[in-house]
Amino acid sequence: MINVLMFGPPGSGKGTQSVTLAEKYNLLHLSTGDMLRAELKAGTGLGKKMEAIMAAGELVPDEVVIEMIAQKIDSTTGKKGFVFDGFPRTVEQAEALQKMLEVRGMKIDLMLVLEVNDVELMDRMKKRALVSGRADDADEAVINNRIEVYRSKTEPVIEYGRSTGVSRQVDGVGSIEDIFDRLCSHIETII
Ligand code: ADP
Repeated sequence: MINVLMFGPPGSGKGTQSVTLAEKYNLLHLSTGDMLRAELKAGTGLGKKMEAIMAAGELVPDEVVIEMIAQKIDSTTGKKGFVFDGFPRTVEQAEALQKMLEVRGMKIDLMLVLEVNDVELMDRMKKRALVSGRADDADEAVINNRIEVYRSKTEPVIEYGRSTGVSRQVDGVGSIEDIFDRLCSHIETII
């Protein structure tokens, strides 16, 4: 089993790349953002509780996403591993994931960190706002907050990966295909 973590600020393209990476290597794509939006759309109790937090660009409580991920890992069969997209987003989530994998005989094999400068990020997010229909994409102040939350709460997770030797920085500017090739070249080193 291989477990790949995709990192990068909002708008860095981790969702887009995760989908194609998962297809190519027969991994399950696990996006906590997609899972939470599905709860919102289905109008579940959990979705209703998380709606305001997500619309403000804040993080939902760690235990909510940790539980979602654990359930998905345990209900998955026939895959060679997982691509985690948007999780872990805090050091606490990273520690929980590491333990969760360990007790199941797995580990974090690779952390891919997409690097995109702020000017390019804002430009991409403005374009995405026109098509995504996401409340958290529609407001510039919320986008700025999400980038700020990424810098303060999620970047420390990259340090955590660096200390365990699994993180790789990847240039996230260029064509989707070129970035995909850069990501694949790192995955090839662990399979
Ligand atoms: P993006 O990376 O484009 O900001 P995501 O789809 O990954 O978007 O996440 C959207 C929102 O869902 C986040 O702003 C946050 O409110 C919530 N969310 C997603 N994943 C997590 C997580 N691992 N921990 C806490 N909140 C999360």
